[in-house]
Amino acid sequence: MKNYNKLVDIQVDLADGKLSCVSLVQSYLANIQQNQDLNAFLEVFADEALARAAELDRKSGAKGKLYGLVIAIKDNICYQGHKVSASSKMLENFESLYSSTAVERLLAEDAIIIGRLNCDEFAMGGSNENSAYGPVLNQRDKTRVSGGSSGGSAVAVQANLCQASLGSDTGGSIRQPASFCGVVGMKPTYGRVSRHGLIAFGSSFDQIGPFAKSVEDAQLILEVINGQDEYDATAIQNRVASFESKEQRKYCIAYFQDIIDSPGLNAEVRDAFLHLIERLRALGHQVVPKTFPYLDYVVPAYYVLTTAEASSNLSRYDGVHYGYRSPSAKNMDQVYKQSRTEGFGTEVKNRIMLGTFVLSAGYYDAYYSKAQKVRRILSEAVNEVYDSCDFILSPTTPSTAFKLGSKTSDPIEMYLEDIYTVLANLVGNPAISLPLYESKEGLPVGMQLMTKNQHEADLFALSKELMTE
Ligand code: GLN
Repeated sequence: MKNYNKLVDIQVDLADGKLSCVSLVQSYLANIQQNQDLNAFLEVFADEALARAAELDRKSGAKGKLYGLVIAIKDNICYQGHKVSASSKMLENFESLYSSTAVERLLAEDAIIIGRLNCDEFAMGGSNENSAYGPVLNQRDKTRVSGGSSGGSAVAVQANLCQASLGSDTGGSIRQPASFCGVVGMKPTYGRVSRHGLIAFGSSFDQIGPFAKSVEDAQLILEVINGQDEYDATAIQNRVASFESKEQRKYCIAYFQDIIDSPGLNAEVRDAFLHLIERLRALGHQVVPKTFPYLDYVVPAYYVLTTAEASSNLSRYDGVHYGYRSPSAKNMDQVYKQSRTEGFGTEVKNRIMLGTFVLSAGYYDAYYSKAQKVRRILSEAVNEVYDSCDFILSPTTPSTAFKLGSKTSDPIEMYLEDIYTVLANLVGNPAISLPLYESKEGLPVGMQLMTKNQHEADLFALSKELMTE
């Protein structure tokens, strides 16, 4: 089967009878079969996807907006009657009692869900090496990581195992693996997509978003899944039917000089970034350097706040209400302690302990409340940039996909990978990673555009302009 960049082309071929939903699903299933070593899927809904495809092939009359879209979902997004484990032993064999709002909206527009995708345990990680089910391999070089936490979601699209996927982004988990794998990954404005049915990590940061081969498909998926939801009070109170912008505008694009000067930035990524700045200027946009003296604070603030929220969110996994219960526990105390000790992986335990520490009476003011203040200062500084500019441009990540195992012994080194992505989550902004460059070794290099809250239409417009040759 040919590799379709856009769903509209699939829909044209379906209408012309060159394809059927069943043949589409069959070819993705064959690709999944051939690429099992990538470890992208935790479960493939083969029979169910084929049955639904057959049903859609028989459907007469108007078709849904996502007719012909074969999509897979990250293993922290609930789908009724299907397992959801957040790639954790804690939730092994747990079945969703209801579907997330995002999944319901996909199905209502005739999408076909083909399986659930590997990720870092409870979405905590940047390389997919924290999954209880093993790492996901980067198809471009199987000795390298896929990125994370939505590594399976990125590789599934990269390797054409499905047309698109859903991931979640708390600090870069959509954009960073998208950048490492050479696909489009988009984090919408905080609240744009309901978090109902998304397994919580850091609730004031978490956001569901699409991975796709084209900006057009990412836009279409967001058009379907966005909007208010009675089950999520933080969901934005209006539904946007179309993110298509009417006019082609010339924008003002800011970048932080501090990023270009930072020693952690890989030279090839820096060159690509400088090239993009010149390209944007040649396209008639204004590109202006800004000083942003807060770069050193974004990663610490993010890790204080998200671990605090995670320690609270993950307290529900106690061996009583959900999931894993230690078989050797003899009393109530042991049920809690042993179930959590055995059920959670190392990184999740690190974060629960850090989060509990920063929230503890003696340290709350020194860490948690200080990080809240930093979050506020960051928002003000970013909004000041938006007084004169429409976008903030940066590389998505400081380097290309790194080797498996190369950062697992040093969590701080792993956390620094998030330096360009966490800002969007701290301030709630929408941001996208675009696969615009490649390193000399042929590894994808993604570039990130971030914009004002609820300005996704501009984000898609400029992204489409950049993705056309
Ligand atoms: N790498 C970041 C972390 O480990 C991002 C995770 C995410 O966005 N879910 O927290």
